[in-house]
Amino acid sequence: MTPLALALALALAALFGLVIGSFLNVVIYRVPAGISLLRPSRCPACDAPVRPWQNVPVVSWLALRGRCASCGERISARYPLVELATGAAFAAVTWLVLSATMLPPAATVVVLVAFLYLASISIALTLIDVDTRRLPNAIVLPAYVVLLALFAVACVVGAPWAALLRAVIGGAALFALYALLRAVRRGGMGGGDVKLAGVMGLALGWTGWGALAVGAFAAFVLGGLFGLALILVRRAGRKTAIPFGPWLLAGGWVGIIVGEPISRWYIGMLTTG
Ligand SMILES: [Zn+2]
Repeated sequence: MTPLALALALALAALFGLVIGSFLNVVIYRVPAGISLLRPSRCPACDAPVRPWQNVPVVSWLALRGRCASCGERISARYPLVELATGAAFAAVTWLVLSATMLPPAATVVVLVAFLYLASISIALTLIDVDTRRLPNAIVLPAYVVLLALFAVACVVGAPWAALLRAVIGGAALFALYALLRAVRRGGMGGGDVKLAGVMGLALGWTGWGALAVGAFAAFVLGGLFGLALILVRRAGRKTAIPFGPWLLAGGWVGIIVGEPISRWYIGMLTTG
C-alpha cells in the first residue's frame, strides 16, 4: 500500500468512525433505557425533533455551541467527544489491521470490519457500564455471533483456519477464567463481565496466543492500578464496587495492539538470556 493510499484509507476510516460514533451516542443512551434505536431523535428537555443538519457529528454541536436549537438546554460535551473518540479509534484500528496482517486483501477487509465492530461495542459498553453498572446482553451476546461469523468468512477468503480455532479456544478460556473468578470472589465480578470476557477472548485468540495472554493479564493490572489509585486518593474504600467492564475492554485492546510484540520480546528474553 502506498503512503497516499494508506492516508486516504485512514481519513475515510476516521470519517466513518465519526458517523458510527454519532450512532453509538444513541445506543449508549437508549439500550439501557429500553428505547427503540429506530425512533427519530428528540431533545430530552423540550421534545423538539433533531433536524438532519443538527445531526452532523461534532460540527453540529460546535455550530449550536452545545445547546438545543429550540430551547437552549445544554447538550453534553460527551456527545462530540464520543464521536471524536470513535473517529480516532477507527483510524487507529484501520492502521493496525492494514500494517499488521499479511492476509489476502479480501480477508484483510473482513478482519478490519470485525475489529471496527469490536471497537464500536467497546466504546458503547464502556460508557454504559460507567453510567449504569450494566453490560446489556442486547450488545454482548450478538457479538459472539458477529465476530465468529466474520472470522469464519475471513478464513473462507484466505485467513488461516488455525486463527479461527485459536479464537474459539481464546473465547472459551477467558469465559471460563472469569466464570471461575466470579464463583470464587462473589460480588465484584458480574455475569456481564463473564459474558464480555468470552467476546474479548475471541478477538484476542484470533490475534494470537501472545495477545490472549497479555490481554487477559492487562485487564487485572489496569483494573487493580485504578482501584489502588482510587483508594489512595480516598475516593473509594476497599469494598467500593468499581465496574470491571471498562478494564476488561481496555486490557483486551492492550493485548490486541501490543500483545504479540510483548510476548515475542518476553520469550526472546527467556530463550537468549
Ligand atoms: Zn430542546
